[in-house]
Order: sequence, then structure tokens, then C-alpha cells
Amino acid sequence: MDSLWMTGYEKEIERCKKLYVNFSEGAGYIKAVFDALKKYYEKHGNQLSQLELTIPSAEESAEMMRQDESLNLRPDINTALFSELFKLVCLETTKANPVIKETIATVVDKTITFLSEEGEIVSLEKIKAFRDLLIKETAIEKDMATFLFSIVLSSIYRRQLETISKVLRTDLYEGGECPLCGEKPHYGMLRNDDGAKHLECWLCGTSWVHTRVKCPYCSNDDREELGYFTVEGNDICRVNYCRNCCRYCKIIDARKFGMDGKVILAIHNLASLEYDLLARKEGFFPGSGLEWINEEDEAIDRQD
Ligand SMILES: [Zn+2]
Ligand SMILES: [Zn+2]
Repeated sequence: MDSLWMTGYEKEIERCKKLYVNFSEGAGYIKAVFDALKKYYEKHGNQLSQLELTIPSAEESAEMMRQDESLNLRPDINTALFSELFKLVCLETTKANPVIKETIATVVDKTITFLSEEGEIVSLEKIKAFRDLLIKETAIEKDMATFLFSIVLSSIYRRQLETISKVLRTDLYEGGECPLCGEKPHYGMLRNDDGAKHLECWLCGTSWVHTRVKCPYCSNDDREELGYFTVEGNDICRVNYCRNCCRYCKIIDARKFGMDGKVILAIHNLASLEYDLLARKEGFFPGSGLEWINEEDEAIDRQD
């Protein structure tokens, strides 16, 4: 498997430990989770069957890109695979954080029951709805549920869509949602060489250039309503916001650490969750719909 984030993530975690002061504490856990996923795919990758996908022809998809229309490729997920990966990630979570052992055990039980009722495949939408249900019905925190589900789902989607992602004419595309799967982005990057803004899909890993003065969520391009803020003393991550729709996304400024190409933004995202908290405190919501902040964190911070 040559997915970028499955190779080189160790180095990216080390780099992020230096770039983001608050990341050191959680870095070991993140590495253990990536290690577990990598090991699983190395051992079983060849035996995993890929679902048949109906893909538009090269000409058709190029035309869709020109029209800023996402292919909206959202394949169903193999329940057995999801279940195996989810259990692995939960095991590492319990090792790193024994205090939530019981909560995680409940989450795993409920997830297995849910999947067993779904048959061989399950839609992405059903899994997302189930994640939201777990947040309501169990003691699991929002940020933890977001992490567990997004890491497992993205490992499956990246693997399944990477060959298409590589040939898709994203250079013709100027839309705000992922040109391949249609998911809304949570983060992006300012490229080191020319400062161009790239957005990247948290789910399938596709990246595309997006104009700097435009909201990816509501397409608002009024300069007065768009802006960004950052943290004093650490401006590697910018919170890009839109006052029209009150959404934000995080943009990593790769010029600050002189890196091109192989930046694993999924790890930068995990290393910079304090910026999500800031965004929330400023009254903005994640345009991706991914909730990385718990209400309690917000409340505790406000009392300070
Ligand atoms: Zn995508
Ligand atoms: Zn907007």
C-alpha cells in the first residue's frame, strides 16, 4: 500500500511534535493507532476484496471537473473490514487511556451489534448516523468518536479511491467539496513554493487547489466577510473563517516549515486541535461537520 499517510507518518508525527507545542502528549497514542492500521493492511491488504465501482469515463469526469461537479463517489463499506479496524483502533485507545476502558468496551459492543445487523456492506451515511447515535447514547466524547470513526473510514476510503484520486483532473476543479467523494474538507495547506491554497479531503485524501478568497462551504467571495486568525507565537495553522455561513477550516502554512509535497495533513490536523477550540470560541463551526471539540472543553476554558 503506497498511500502517503501509511508511509512516512512516523516522521510527520516527529515534525508535528516540534511544530505544535501541545501535541507531544497525544503523539504516542496517534502513532500507536497508525502503527496498528499499517500492520493490519500489511498483513491482510492483499486478501481484501475491493467493491466494484461505477466510474465515469476519463472524458466524462474531466467535464464534471470543469463544471465544478464532484464525482460524488461514495462506495459502501465492507462491514467485516470496518469492524476489524475499529476494534484495533479501540484496543490502542484503551491501552493509551485506561480510564475510558469501560466506555470504549460499550462502544465496541454497540458497534459490532450495529454492523452485524447490516449484512456484508453498509453505507457511509449509515455509519455516520451511527457515530452520532453513539455520542448521544454512550459516555464517549465527541472528539474521541470523531477520531475513531474518521481514522477508520479514511483508511478504507483512501485505499479504495487512491488510484482514481491520482488520475482525477483536479486541476480543472474549483469547487469547495471533495471532487472525488463529495465530502466537505476540514483542512488544507498553503503550498511552500507559491503559497497556493490546497484543500484536502479528510476522508479520501484527494487534494485540489482552491482560490484563497472564497469560502469552500458557501462559495461566498466577499473579502469583508472572509478572514483568518492564528495563535500568537504559532502561525503554522490558520483558522480560515467565513462570516456569511459561520464555518471554518484549518489551513496549514507549509511555507513556515519549508515543506513541499509530502505533508501528511491528517496528522497536522490532529496536532492542531487547539485551533478548532479557538474557532469554536470565536463562534465558528466546522464546515466539514467533524466535531473535534467537546462542549465541556469549551466551558472549562471559558471559566479560566
Ligand atoms: Zn474525498
Ligand atoms: Zn461561507
